[in-house]
Amino acid sequence: MRTPFLLPTVSRRRFLSHLGAVGALAVAPRRLFAAEGTGDRKLGVALVGLGSYSSGQLGPALKLTKLCRLAGVVTGSPEKGRRWAKDYGFPETSIYGYDTMQRMADNPDIDIVYVVTPNALHARDTIAAAKAGKHVICEKPMAVSVAECDAMIAACQAAKVRLSIGYRLHYDPFHEELRRLARTQEFGPFMKMDGGFAFTMGSKVWRAERKWAGGGPLMDLGVYVMQEACMATAATPVAVTALERPKQRPDFFVDVEESLDWTMEFANGAKAACYTSYNDNRNDFRAEAKDGWYQVGPAYSYNGLRAATSRGPVDVAPLKSQQALQIDGFARAILDNQPSLVPGEMGRRDLSIIEAIYASAAAGGKRIEVEA
Ligand code: NAD
Repeated sequence: MRTPFLLPTVSRRRFLSHLGAVGALAVAPRRLFAAEGTGDRKLGVALVGLGSYSSGQLGPALKLTKLCRLAGVVTGSPEKGRRWAKDYGFPETSIYGYDTMQRMADNPDIDIVYVVTPNALHARDTIAAAKAGKHVICEKPMAVSVAECDAMIAACQAAKVRLSIGYRLHYDPFHEELRRLARTQEFGPFMKMDGGFAFTMGSKVWRAERKWAGGGPLMDLGVYVMQEACMATAATPVAVTALERPKQRPDFFVDVEESLDWTMEFANGAKAACYTSYNDNRNDFRAEAKDGWYQVGPAYSYNGLRAATSRGPVDVAPLKSQQALQIDGFARAILDNQPSLVPGEMGRRDLSIIEAIYASAAAGGKRIEVEA
């Protein structure tokens, strides 16, 4: 079985109090019995937003999941919804618009709502799903501010539903090996880390607009590198420093960063040097300890990952779909009344790191402490 999410050292008390609120024991027995009482019925998932990630990854993954199936959609295009209903075999009555999500409350076929809209809409859609009494998976980044994360956690807590983040790499075996090494400390603690995730953005989309994305590549790609350093240390950084690189295409990246370097500093003295960009090419992570190292690259892709340690290549069984494992992992947590491996509190932690990174970059690289 997978290991539970390791509690961040700095925000442990707050994290535990959140877990107590939205975690295993706080979930209403009524909902758990409903899920357990489904017999062989798979838990129904409704995708909110039928863009490229839903079409290319999550829909196909829901054909591979053992515990879930696609049972509905939320879309601005009824015609697209009808196509999905036909392709995935759910009734047209399970097609909703963004403004009619509250009607899902009457639909027992839908147990989990998976929010896959632009970042600035995650809070709106997560809160609507919680109000309809559905468990939620929300894509990364969880939202565009810590304040929004708090509102989302509170809404799920009030509705007694569970909230999980689409951090698929926690279910990938190469990354599971990094978490295992962090837990067992076989090489000693990882003290020196280096990683980057970058690609060149060709056409202008919502991802390059602050209004929809909340920021630039840090929100979209950098979050993976941050996650990796937190996995390697099993901790939350205490402070960050960040510097934005000069823009090569300032007309394209008008109100968001194009490229950003930042460091994360941990309580035990460990440091991670991180990089992200929408005008470059990186996909790697390396962690060094006194008695060994781990590295992965490609590190953050859906497939084709490769990892090695100072002992040799990391050998894992081929994986069909990170997303299928991730969605089934959340379903298993609901059915077993266990905490999610990637709960809302983890998404909130990452937004608090992101806010500190942006504050440091705005202050010309000043060291900023990460708020718990
Ligand atoms: P996309 O642009 O392809 O799709 C976004 C969807 O939201 C579209 O169906 C669009 O119609 C809908 N939408 C609703 N209101 C909108 C509005 N006001 N403006 C624009 N679109 C609107 O984006 P995507 O690549 O599918 O990303 C969606 C979310 O999924 C993002 O939060 C992204 O970070 C996340 N994502 C995660 C992964 C991962 O590996 N975990 C990969 C890709 C995307």
